[in-house]
Amino acid sequence: MTDQRIQPIHVIGGGLAGTEATWQIAQAGIPVVLHEMRPVKVSPAHHSEHVAELVCSNSFGAKATDRASGLLHEELRQLGSVVIAKADEHAVPAGGALAVDRGVFSRDLTATLEQHPLIELRRDEVTTIPTDRTVVLTTGPLTSDALAVDLRQFTGQDYMSFFDAASPIVVGESIDRDFAFMASRYDRGEAAYLNCPMNREQYLAFWQALCAAEQAELKDFEQETAKFFEGCLPIEEMARRGEDTMRYGPLKPVGLFDKRYGAFDDPANKDKKPYAVVQLRQEDKGGQLWNMVGFQTNLRWGEQKRVFRMIPGLENAEFVRMGVMHRNTFINSPELLSSALQFHQRANLFAAGQLVGTEGYTAACAGGWLAGTNAARSVLGRSLVSLPVTTMMGALFEFISSAEPKHFQPMPPNFGIFPALPQRIRNKRERYGKYRDRSFADLHAWVAANQIRLKQSVFAIA
Ligand SMILES: Cc1cc2nc3c(=O)[nH]c(=O)nc-3n(C[C@H](O)[C@H](O)[C@H](O)COP(=O)(O)OP(=O)(O)OC[C@H]3O[C@@H](n4cnc5c(N)ncnc54)[C@H](O)[C@@H]3O)c2cc1C
Repeated sequence: MTDQRIQPIHVIGGGLAGTEATWQIAQAGIPVVLHEMRPVKVSPAHHSEHVAELVCSNSFGAKATDRASGLLHEELRQLGSVVIAKADEHAVPAGGALAVDRGVFSRDLTATLEQHPLIELRRDEVTTIPTDRTVVLTTGPLTSDALAVDLRQFTGQDYMSFFDAASPIVVGESIDRDFAFMASRYDRGEAAYLNCPMNREQYLAFWQALCAAEQAELKDFEQETAKFFEGCLPIEEMARRGEDTMRYGPLKPVGLFDKRYGAFDDPANKDKKPYAVVQLRQEDKGGQLWNMVGFQTNLRWGEQKRVFRMIPGLENAEFVRMGVMHRNTFINSPELLSSALQFHQRANLFAAGQLVGTEGYTAACAGGWLAGTNAARSVLGRSLVSLPVTTMMGALFEFISSAEPKHFQPMPPNFGIFPALPQRIRNKRERYGKYRDRSFADLHAWVAANQIRLKQSVFAIA
């Protein structure tokens, strides 16, 4: 039963995260106002007036639970996600992927929210973040300009990004450590980089392949934004500027030598000096993910895999995130948010979706589930929850709230952010199966400890 004294929670942005957050709040018995600016104000990527519109692909990723996206689907399914329930209901054949009839899917979700007695779907653009009520911010990668200005004032100039120029991230275990070596330039400080050296022949072959590789097309609004990003050239653009440009930029070899050969100045090692070096910087605390330094790119994903695997040491590289350069508004979550998706600065403000630096449709739903759940719990005076880091949801929100802030970039669900298993398992499929088993066991224990019923709202207390 609803407590009439409870003020509504306001969710701003009716995308995937906002839809899920709204549903979880209403399921908790709390009134909720969902503000969606469409169709009053249109975004440059959306086409309809419905909530939970899929802006590009109609796929939520692989279904198998030993794949990162499939595991996240299943966790959300078990936790009573409305978005995943509707995705299952409106699924279309797509091999191993969960893909949906996008029109029916978002129309049904819009009707589902509109018919709920506790939900008001209000069509307006919110331009300032209200301070006098509990709010969940879910305005996504294309947050309207006016709200972005207000958010920037609130978070501080350095804590907002409007363009995502990210290099690919590689799973550490897939890098050939017999070849790549740890070192910092001129041996200064701690050896913090994994280095993949190239001889002249390897470099030239790589350079030529890079110059000829196929590029993804930027949308019109992204080309506009890209002009403001002159200081951050795509690696293929740098390559096209000349044979040696990369060797004077991110592939500079000076001061880098594999000490396994012995001393750098030993004349016997004269021919072992690298002609160019690709460096990878550690991305997570556990050292499982490595970021290719200076490799922001507009190349098509398939081309990135083909060309970057020509780099010695990365022949079998497993990519958890490909390089991108596109419009993307996101906050520096490690500085601003807890793993419960609550702002440190303001206890009645929560956020989720692409805006907090998760990437992809399913991750946005997951954030919506957690932020909506916690916003409702805070209004009811209950303690906030964070999921175990051994679940995909828990690992994702632990990462975005504790990654190194200086280099923070959005992250999709992936197994590289999981804590290692107690025993090392070389076979990838077997390892991922063990991650899944651990995730389900820990999710069930967490649910029991927090008095949450599976497949129902977090508030359905036994
Ligand atoms: C061009 C493009 C293509 C993409 N393609 C894919 C893809 O194929 N697969 C994938 O997994 N991910 C893709 N993404 C990432 C995608 O945006 C996210 O996965 C997902 O949509 C994020 O969900 P969200 O809820 O955070 O944001 P959104 O789904 O964008 O929802 C945000 C909502 O907030 C509304 N809004 C914004 N500002 C305001 C305001 N001030 N007041 C009220 N309402 C407001 C918007 O109209 C929108 O409905 C793409 C992103 C872009 C920009």
